[in-house]
Amino acid sequence: MESLNSCLTYEAGGALGLSYRVVVDPDKCIGCGACVRACAYGVLELIDDMAYAARPGECRGCMDCVRACEQGAIEVLLAKGKP
Ligand code: SF4
Ligand code: SF4
Repeated sequence: MESLNSCLTYEAGGALGLSYRVVVDPDKCIGCGACVRACAYGVLELIDDMAYAARPGECRGCMDCVRACEQGAIEVLLAKGKP
């Protein structure tokens, strides 16, 4: 049911013109890359051993990256308008 929830979240977000902001805490991130591998939409990249939202406009707000991060270093926030 998780993928269905993600799909519904994206569909609702698209219809309402919502977008998401991906924030990485540089003090917590250890550059393990788990979030990069978890993101099915290619939003994240590792740059200088830290996760970075290279393509924030592709974020669906699915939270898979947040669940993958054992350091609690990544947050996905709802933002109004386009990134
Ligand atoms: S999973 Fe967490 S600690 Fe690992 S690269 Fe991503 S943000 Fe950094
Ligand atoms: S919330 Fe989902 S789509 Fe957005 S960066 Fe995280 S894993 Fe990728």
